[in-house]
Amino acid sequence: MKHQLAAALLALLPCPAVAAPVLLSPDRVWDGEAMHSGWQVLVEGGRIVAAGANLEAPADARRLDLPGHTLLPGFIEGHSHLLLHPYDKTPWDDQVLKESEAYRVARAVVHAKATLMAGFTTVRDLGSEGAGTADVGLKRAINEGHVPGPRMIIATRALVAPGSYAPKNDAWAVPQGAEEADGPALVSAVRRQIGAGADVVKLYGDYRWRPGEGSRPTYSQAEIAAAVAAAHDAGRPVAVHANTAEAMHRASAAGADVIEHGSEGDAATFALMAKNKTVLCPTLAAGDAIARYRGWNGQEPAPADVLQDRAAFQLAMKAGVPICMGGDVGVFAHGENAREMLLMAKAGMTNAAVLTAATAGNARYFGLSDRGRIAPGLHADLVAVPGDPLQDLNRISHVVFVMKGGAVVKSE
Ligand SMILES: [Zn+2]
Repeated sequence: MKHQLAAALLALLPCPAVAAPVLLSPDRVWDGEAMHSGWQVLVEGGRIVAAGANLEAPADARRLDLPGHTLLPGFIEGHSHLLLHPYDKTPWDDQVLKESEAYRVARAVVHAKATLMAGFTTVRDLGSEGAGTADVGLKRAINEGHVPGPRMIIATRALVAPGSYAPKNDAWAVPQGAEEADGPALVSAVRRQIGAGADVVKLYGDYRWRPGEGSRPTYSQAEIAAAVAAAHDAGRPVAVHANTAEAMHRASAAGADVIEHGSEGDAATFALMAKNKTVLCPTLAAGDAIARYRGWNGQEPAPADVLQDRAAFQLAMKAGVPICMGGDVGVFAHGENAREMLLMAKAGMTNAAVLTAATAGNARYFGLSDRGRIAPGLHADLVAVPGDPLQDLNRISHVVFVMKGGAVVKSE
C-alpha cells in the first residue's frame, strides 16, 4: 500500500531532474558554435554529462530518439520584459498606469510559460516597467517549480534620470516606468536595486525628454561610470539603454557591458564598442513590431525607423562589435522571441552566427558559463526543432521539444 502511494505520487511529479539518465539521439546537434551530425547527448541529474558520436549510455538510461530533428542548447533571450504585453493591444502608458501589479503578475506567469514553450530557457529580463520588484517574485516562483518558465536574469525597476522617462502627465505627478535617480543618489539606487534582487543593473542613458522629440543623452559620463563601478563591485553587469551615438559612446567608455538598441550608432561609435568589447543588443524585432503597429504591412521598402535599425546593425557587424540576440519581447508577444533571430538573418547575419548569438554568444556576453552550449557539466537546457536550422533558420520558430534542467517540459 505504502509503495503504491509512493509510485502514485512520483507519477504526479513533473519529470524530476534526478531521474534516470537520458540519452537523446537527434539527427544532429548544434553545440552552440558548430553543427555535428550523428551526435548524441547524455543527460543526468539536470546536467549534460556527455555529447558526441556513439556514446556509451548507462544500462538504466532512458532513450529519447528525435529522428529528423536538430538538438540545440535552450535559447537565451537577451532582452525581455515578462511584465509587459504587446503595445498594439494596450499602450505602454496604460499598462504602467492602469494595470495593477497583481494583474500584471498574473499575465507574466502566462508569458513565462509561453517563453519556455518556445524554447527560451533563459531570459535577461530588463526591467519591470512600473511593476516594482515583481520580477524577483516571479523568478523565485519559477525557480521553486511553482510555475513553468525560463531561468531569469532580472533588473528589477531599472534606473532613469529624473524627468527623463515616462509616462508624462502635465497636470500631476504620475508613477514612472523605472526608478528616478541621478548624481550621487544614482549609486545608492544601484546598490538598493542589487540588494532587492537585481542580477543586472539597467540604466537609461538617453531618452526623449518630451513626447515627439528625439532621444538626447540623460546621464553624464561620470554618472554612468559611478553606476558601473558600484554594479561591478557587486559582481553585476550593466545594461545601458542608448540610441544616440553620444549616449552609446558614454556607456562604452564608462565600461558598461551591454548597450541596448543602439539605433543611431555610427561607425566611430561601433569602432569604440568593438575596441572596448561592449556588446550590442540590437532589438530589431521591437522596431519592426512598432512599425507594424503604425500600419506597416511588412513589405519593402521598410519605414525609415526599421531601415535605420538595420543599418546600425550592419555597421556594428562590420566593426566587429559582439552582438547579442535580444528582441525587447513584451513590445510584441511572448513566445515569439524567434522573431529577432529571423530579423538578424534578414539584415545580413549568417544563420550560424544567429544560432551562436542566441546560445553560446548570449551565455558568454551575460557571464552565464553554466549554459548556452552543449558540453559536459552544463545545465541540461535543450531544445529540438524539425530539420536543420542552419539550412533553414525558420525552423527555430517550430520548437517541438524543450528540456530544462534535465526535465522534459515540452514534447510534441
Ligand atoms: Zn526593453
